[in-house]
Amino acid sequence: MYTITLLPGDGIGPEVVAGAVQVLQAVQERTGAQFVTREAPFGGCAYDKTGTPLPEETLKLCLAGDAVLLGAVGGPKWDSLPVHQRPEVGALLPLRKHLGVFANLRPSVIFPALADASTLKREVVDGLDLMVVRELTGGIYFGSKHRETLPDGGVKVVETLEYTTGEIERVARVAFDLARKRSGKLTSVDKANVLESSRLWREVVSGVAGEYPDVELSHMLVDNCAMQLVRYPKQFDVLLTENMFGDILSDQASQLTGSIGMLPSAGLGSKVGLYEPIHGSAPDIAGQNLANPIATILSVAMMLRYSFDLPEAAELVEKAVAGVLDEGYRTADIMQPGMRQVGTVEMAKQIGVRL
Ligand code: ATP
Ligand code: MG
Repeated sequence: MYTITLLPGDGIGPEVVAGAVQVLQAVQERTGAQFVTREAPFGGCAYDKTGTPLPEETLKLCLAGDAVLLGAVGGPKWDSLPVHQRPEVGALLPLRKHLGVFANLRPSVIFPALADASTLKREVVDGLDLMVVRELTGGIYFGSKHRETLPDGGVKVVETLEYTTGEIERVARVAFDLARKRSGKLTSVDKANVLESSRLWREVVSGVAGEYPDVELSHMLVDNCAMQLVRYPKQFDVLLTENMFGDILSDQASQLTGSIGMLPSAGLGSKVGLYEPIHGSAPDIAGQNLANPIATILSVAMMLRYSFDLPEAAELVEKAVAGVLDEGYRTADIMQPGMRQVGTVEMAKQIGVRL
């Protein structure tokens, strides 16, 4: 039995999470795996109800379960709150920190039916299936910051980038384990020609490689990697990189697939995994049954694979998504001429019945 904490959140969050829960129920019926879900307030809706975007009770529930499925948080309604009460800063960042999810996995997969939706040529992206593993809780985003005014009236800032061998090792292991289960190819991305932190990164990753003789490790400089991602992305399988490089490269890689409503993510590294679509709360389409639930449904597939070790169940979900797309079902964001447009509810239902 697996216990999943649902944090539907704001905007389209509740709609896409409801769709994902429907698919989870179908997985349960099909495979016999038992899922227990419980819902908790999180984000702007939690602030409205309790005065805080991350209520203590919600955090306790998340820590006590096996995995968390998050919709999205935020929206214009909460934009003018003090920064620590805003859904993103007051709920999302502390949740990640409390859960200890130091490895962020973002797959960029092109479904054959959508190969023309990319901004790149079909032959460059058709068949693309890569995974970015980004270090999520260290590096320059978490280093000490300092700002001072100079005698000449100018301003000086200092921003520090810290990594320890332990922090690099643990995220490297996540990436190597993953590469081992996929094609056995791992590219570690750094800036070792300039940065001392990248030199350590490269040393530690090369050291961990000793434990994985079956994985072929290569190193690439981040500027070259950015170029290669748009030139010939299919050369990559698993990309491993530090926090800031990963932030940039994972957004770049996601755009190769052309549609924000399709892409899932997983936060791993501790007992409780955090799964969420990469898109935001999309207030412009909230409550209209227009949102694409596939990113959240594919996040459920990642949960089945990485938190529950149910790879066959994960594949069932991914195949059902591919099947529905092959048959021409489209939500508005991925609509193409001659295809059949459906809403959030119908898309989730169609995926569920194909399991
Ligand atoms: P955040 O800061 O929370 O990431 P954002 O402002 O970057 O939010 P999103 O909320 O992700 O942006 O929305 C960006 C655009 O993509 C919007 O026009 C939105 O309607 C659209 N969009 C996002 N998610 C989906 C989805 N699941 N289905 C359809 N359209 C979506
Ligand atoms: Mg965004």
